[in-house]
Amino acid sequence: MKIPDSKIPLAGANIRDIAKTFELAGFDSYDPARILLHYYRHKNADIDAIDCYPKKLRQLLKEVYSTDLLQPLFHEKSSDGTEKWLFRTTEGYPFETAWIPDQNRQTICLSTQSGCKFGCKFCMTGSLGFQAQLSAFEILSQLLAIDKPITHVVFMGMGEPLDNYDILSHVIEILTAHWGFSLAARYITVSTVGVLPTLERLGQELTCNIAISLHSPFPDQRAEIIPAERRYPIKDIIAVLEKVEFKRKRRLSFEYLLINGYNDSKEHAAALGSLISHLPAHVNLIPYNYIPGKPYKTTSLKDAETFRQELNKYGLRVTIRKSRGYDISAACGMMAGRSASTHQ
Ligand code: SAH
Ligand code: SF4
Repeated sequence: MKIPDSKIPLAGANIRDIAKTFELAGFDSYDPARILLHYYRHKNADIDAIDCYPKKLRQLLKEVYSTDLLQPLFHEKSSDGTEKWLFRTTEGYPFETAWIPDQNRQTICLSTQSGCKFGCKFCMTGSLGFQAQLSAFEILSQLLAIDKPITHVVFMGMGEPLDNYDILSHVIEILTAHWGFSLAARYITVSTVGVLPTLERLGQELTCNIAISLHSPFPDQRAEIIPAERRYPIKDIIAVLEKVEFKRKRRLSFEYLLINGYNDSKEHAAALGSLISHLPAHVNLIPYNYIPGKPYKTTSLKDAETFRQELNKYGLRVTIRKSRGYDISAACGMMAGRSASTHQ
């Protein structure tokens, strides 16, 4: 076969890519899953160690594929155990990854874009504007290069995952496949402002959990802080969710940022309750991570508790999310935001 001028990153390859490489070179009798299991699940980058492949095949694989990963440029560790890494795309655009250990659960928070097009008013990534789509290689490098145990994956880092849907679904296939990371889809959550066309596809084509960033039950107020509400109204998002089957532990959650004196009143809780209580949904109340220069402040824990109790009246399961990594700029986009303004 013709060997490409530059090598193809192995991080991002799926079983069909490997089978094709084998077929073109006349090695179709060998199992293409072996190399992917070796690399993804066993995290072993040494192709020569795959001794069920003949030497010639290993040689070919080393000529075609590169096992190198994008490496983080900067790392911070919080006093609560949360860690955060800053990466740059091959073209130099910043993005970040967080790792959050919590008892027997270790969650990685992945970015899907550098920056974001949606410009939510409370969000640091939104203020950066859009820089670049991340490739499957750039997304999987986050997971492989930090070299940490991982039980859960959340797409809640920089960017809007449903604005990079084809790459997102390609990555989720690698995460869930038996030849990939073999992670059950119920341990993967995609968070979105509700990009309707791809939300519909996510509901039908994938079985991972869906988290909708809601932040206000009132369309006019939601549009004030999430401009995407004008294009993708919450009532249409809910209509799409009503058609999704939430079975086999697939979870639907609504993320609700609590902003002091803005969206944390009893009326908000009641309107939120009646908007979503017919869905099999869980509500995550998120304390707002203060960003210097923005007019929003965090709701007190006491007020968050009152808000939670009001929502409970609607039969909803509600949790108040612990704010993690406060001392290391762990809010979405804060590290990359700083890097974009100071390192470039
Ligand atoms: N674009 C997607 C996923 C990335 S943002 C989305 O918006 O859902 C992940 C979550 O972080 C969203 O719920 C978002 O509203 C929230 N978020 C953004 N800025 C925040 C801040 N300063 N404090 C707390 N949560 C924030
Ligand atoms: Fe983009 Fe999500 Fe931030 Fe909104 S909250 S600007 S959609 S990353």
